[in-house]
Amino acid sequence: MIALPVLAANWKMNLGPADAAAFVAAYIERAPASRDRTVILFPPALSLGTARAAAASRADLHFGVQNVYWEDRGAFTGEISAPLARDAGAEFVLVGHSERRHLFHESDADTARKCQAVVRAGLTPILCVGETLDERESGATEDVVLRQLHAGFSELAPDAIARALVAYEPVWAIGTGRTASPADASRTHATLRVALRRLVPPPAPTAGAARDVPILYGGSVTPDNAAALLAAPEVGGLLVGGASLHPASWAAIVATASLGSGR
Ligand code: PEP
Repeated sequence: MIALPVLAANWKMNLGPADAAAFVAAYIERAPASRDRTVILFPPALSLGTARAAAASRADLHFGVQNVYWEDRGAFTGEISAPLARDAGAEFVLVGHSERRHLFHESDADTARKCQAVVRAGLTPILCVGETLDERESGATEDVVLRQLHAGFSELAPDAIARALVAYEPVWAIGTGRTASPADASRTHATLRVALRRLVPPPAPTAGAARDVPILYGGSVTPDNAAALLAAPEVGGLLVGGASLHPASWAAIVATASLGSGR
């Protein structure tokens, strides 16, 4: 069961094995364990082992990988698979991050195959969607995020989609210092929510463990704007890049989630 809000740290190609372990140790000192949120760290795959070992005392810390290939094993030099990520202790996988889509030309079809491979391995995909600045300025935001959502989940059964997560990350906000306003984030999240409700019927009130698919916001989140974004309707958590690379700012964002969101 995932407790909301979800705070996910995408370290991208930063923090090798020793630095990752040092980060986790420093973060743990600053952030008491809590069951009222879900914290997920996405180190580089090479640092997953040391980061997990450093978090051994903290069952409230979860781990994932930033990408997988869709085949389970074989002659795919340089790739990692979902089963290998699971063996290394990952529970979550980012799929279709904008840097994968735009720098590595990952297609919607690739994200579908990856979501399928992640679910097949028993892991949880976090499907990332988001429009570029050009797409936003031409009024195509809704079309883009809905296309990416439907394509990414196209090979999953409704019960698998029900256990997945989505991250709305406007490309123009990632690593730029420009953040979507809480109202902007809410508007796009509401669009995604309507589409998700068609893909997965809402959980029955009696179904104890059932939940709506959490929709995280990502894009230049900092300790200063985290609380307002988390308080926005339909924002179920945050996916954070730059500000997750320092134990103090990451702990501050996590603390904001506990204090400020009113969940
Ligand atoms: C990201 O990489 O998912 C991200 C949101 O980065 P940043 O917080 O640095 O914009």
